[in-house]
Amino acid sequence: MSGSSDFHILTAIIFALFTLVFAIIHFSFKRQEFSGWVAFAYVAALLAYLLDALREPTTWIGFIFVSTMMFWIFCTAIAKAIYARCNANFPNIWAGLVLVTATASWLWLTFVSPDITTRSVVVNVAAGLLLSLALLPLWRTGTKFIDGTLFGVVGAVAATFIARVVIVYIVLGETITEQSYGQSTYVWIFQLTNGIAALALAVVLLYAAGHEMILYFHKQSSRDPLTGLLNRRGLSGSFNARPVGEQGAVFVRAIILFDIDHFKRVNDEFGHAAGDNVLRRVAKTALELCQEYGQVARTGGEEFAILTHWIPVETAQFLAQHICDSLRFVAHPELGTKRKVTASFGLAVLTDIDSLDDAMDRADKALYHAKRNGRNQVALAKAA
Ligand code: GH3
Ligand code: MG
Ligand code: MG
Repeated sequence: MSGSSDFHILTAIIFALFTLVFAIIHFSFKRQEFSGWVAFAYVAALLAYLLDALREPTTWIGFIFVSTMMFWIFCTAIAKAIYARCNANFPNIWAGLVLVTATASWLWLTFVSPDITTRSVVVNVAAGLLLSLALLPLWRTGTKFIDGTLFGVVGAVAATFIARVVIVYIVLGETITEQSYGQSTYVWIFQLTNGIAALALAVVLLYAAGHEMILYFHKQSSRDPLTGLLNRRGLSGSFNARPVGEQGAVFVRAIILFDIDHFKRVNDEFGHAAGDNVLRRVAKTALELCQEYGQVARTGGEEFAILTHWIPVETAQFLAQHICDSLRFVAHPELGTKRKVTASFGLAVLTDIDSLDDAMDRADKALYHAKRNGRNQVALAKAA
């Protein structure tokens, strides 16, 4: 077996592995459109590479055409993946224009006025242009280190596609024909740089996919899936991350805990699914009423917590009372018209030395008093 075909087999295996890796990422994280496009790109790269490597002077022109198309599809799909990552709209018109013009030129230079040298310039310039579409959203929306890295690698690869034809035809002065193609310097540089480019892109794209996965897990681990509210961990995170606001004698931060009254009965009488709907509506109501005052979390089954921003203590009390009064009037069609859902509230003001847990303990004790006192009311915690 010749060294060259070993190289082809190795490159093909690497492309196939990348396809597999990105496909696995895509199917494990359904929302990751990004890795889906990358997997698709590497299927195209694999086909393009194999067809070009197997090419001989007698190869049917249709294969060469498909190989070229696959190369362009690879570049387009990589650009599409990056647009998906940046949540930007892919410029279908521009990509379509490049593809149509390049295809028309390719056909012209094959059948009407055959010139394989110029045709390979078209192939590379179109590929470079298609890939460089990805630079726009990275430039506009990219803020992270990974965006900068992607920008650099994509830019370098797109530039290489164009530079290599300049080097071969202008600097080295080579011209190629169907017969000399297989042994030309061009094909050697073309396949080598394609291999390196696809490898470099895959590494940086894999890094980007990993980054997306970390963000996804972080979001998953700080949110409650039923209501979409923060969970306890998310609330603690936002407590630590919150910058010190307008501190002063009149502004405080408060923690308001509330627990739905006799919720077990709702489940027992109307079923768990009805209970879930009630929880969602309670969450939505609290979220709407708290908008500019603080953050709402679901901290347990039918228990919620509000961590206020810096607000006057009266505002915190008013907020708790307002949510308590409002919940009673929320309609729950599955429970019939007579049944009202209420909740009991405990409010504690955070002190300078409080941890979130300390304040929550005090709020919880106050909540317990509200329950014992007849439910559907707000109780204030004793000062720390
Ligand atoms: P109290 O007024 O004293 O708080 O009475 P309660 O019935 O609300 O309290 P208890 O702690 O006895 O019951 C809480 C119930 O909440 C029991 C549990 O089945 C229900 N629950 C917890 N999480 C969920 C959930 O995600 N969905 C549904 N539908 N029910 C839940
Ligand atoms: Mg409870
Ligand atoms: Mg309860």
